[in-house]
Amino acid sequence: MPRIAKIVTPEIRYKSIHNAPEKHPSSPAFSPQTNPWQQALQTLDLVTDHMKLEPWIHERLARPKRTLTVSIPVKMDDDSIKTFEGYRVHHNLDRGPAKGGIRYHPDVSMDEVKALAFWMTMKCAVMNLPYGGAKGGIICDPRTLSDKEMERLTRRFTAELGIFIGPERDIPAPDVNTNPQIMAWMMDTYSMNVGHTAPGVVTGKPIDIGGSEGRREATGYGVVVVTQEACRILGIDLKTACVAVQGFGNVGANAARIFHKLGARVVGVSDKDGGVYDPQGIDIEDLRLFKKNKPSIAGYPKGRPIGNTDLLALDCDILVPCALEGQLTQDNAPQVKARLIVEGANGPTTPQADKIFKQNGIMVIPDILANAGGVTASYFEWVQDIQSFFWRAEDVNERLTQLMRRAFTEVCGISKRDHIDMRLAAYVLATERVAQALRIRGIYP
Ligand code: NAD
Repeated sequence: MPRIAKIVTPEIRYKSIHNAPEKHPSSPAFSPQTNPWQQALQTLDLVTDHMKLEPWIHERLARPKRTLTVSIPVKMDDDSIKTFEGYRVHHNLDRGPAKGGIRYHPDVSMDEVKALAFWMTMKCAVMNLPYGGAKGGIICDPRTLSDKEMERLTRRFTAELGIFIGPERDIPAPDVNTNPQIMAWMMDTYSMNVGHTAPGVVTGKPIDIGGSEGRREATGYGVVVVTQEACRILGIDLKTACVAVQGFGNVGANAARIFHKLGARVVGVSDKDGGVYDPQGIDIEDLRLFKKNKPSIAGYPKGRPIGNTDLLALDCDILVPCALEGQLTQDNAPQVKARLIVEGANGPTTPQADKIFKQNGIMVIPDILANAGGVTASYFEWVQDIQSFFWRAEDVNERLTQLMRRAFTEVCGISKRDHIDMRLAAYVLATERVAQALRIRGIYP
């Protein structure tokens, strides 16, 4: 359709600029409701309206600073050569070097990576960490790759990212389907190319090569810290509370384990292939043992099998989505019975579902606050690498608890001051910090 010039007032101009989702050959067919980049832009519009943000700052934040698409040729075990596609996005670098995870998943797309990078900018700002936001990923199904193929894929991807990454420029970390071993390959490849060992180029590494105590558990740990704070407000006693956790990977399994340790009843857990429900509470240590060396918790014999849709609608006090984005939608949100939702995953709630939760009086602790424990411990790891001076696990956890509580209190304060929900309040806090950096730095040249 031809574009028809319309007279728009400065107040609403920003809303009409970026409405078209980026068409990319490899992007899955997102609907406007489920396209994560569109959701990120909707949130940006909301916060811009609320803060009466200058249009030029909105414009800066509505576009990533730079995006990179790479093709990654990999020699497979059968000697054939397969080419994968990978991305790295720097959303905004005004507060410091770029920081964000690397995801390996069949549904990775440029729009998803752009949204994840935007959320990283906001997350780092909520926590007041000296970083900008980035994210990366490769379209692949790790379940079909051998360890050797994964290593070659990771090393070639790292080499292709060489123009973006570095301890002072962009510091990747683990995300969905990536782990400390993959970070070790990235660190080694980067180090080989620059000619010296550079531990600070990635975080989430094994401790033996400059990783930090507590980093692996940090995202789940932070999820529990903010849940404790929210429970205090809502008058929920965590020791007798019922919890349901979607996703049993790094974030979900660690969060479930710590909830269980604190005495909460974890009544439901699910992953990509299935789940388990036990109203008496699941023994999370036993479930972790069951899952060891298996791809999924499906088939765990103690408790009733449960699907993802049922898990989200379980009768519980606290729902903790720790899988992927777009899980809580306008279709399933009315069935949610929890009083508190704590977003361990990035972007698990669509804006439509968010409205329903608000109407139903359900408190949502947004991803950019709830799962910020991971990037905060990554920051600690980076600081330790730069200083070559390493902390005890107790020190990491104590500092992590302090920063998570501080951010929670600040977000809560804005929520009360402006009579807005916790998500918008978190974005107000973050956006003001990023905007202030933009204003002070000004526009080059
Ligand atoms: P992971 O790969 O370790 O685990 C992902 C889990 O989600 C797996 O158990 C998988 O089976 C499950 N899953 C995938 N699709 C699902 C579906 N449709 N329904 C139910 N379960 C499904 O990944 P992770 O590192 O735990 O990351 C999970 C989420 O947390 C992501 O949104 C990620 O961006 C976010 N996050 C991770 C970190 C981190 O430190 N790893 C930090 C902040 C945010």
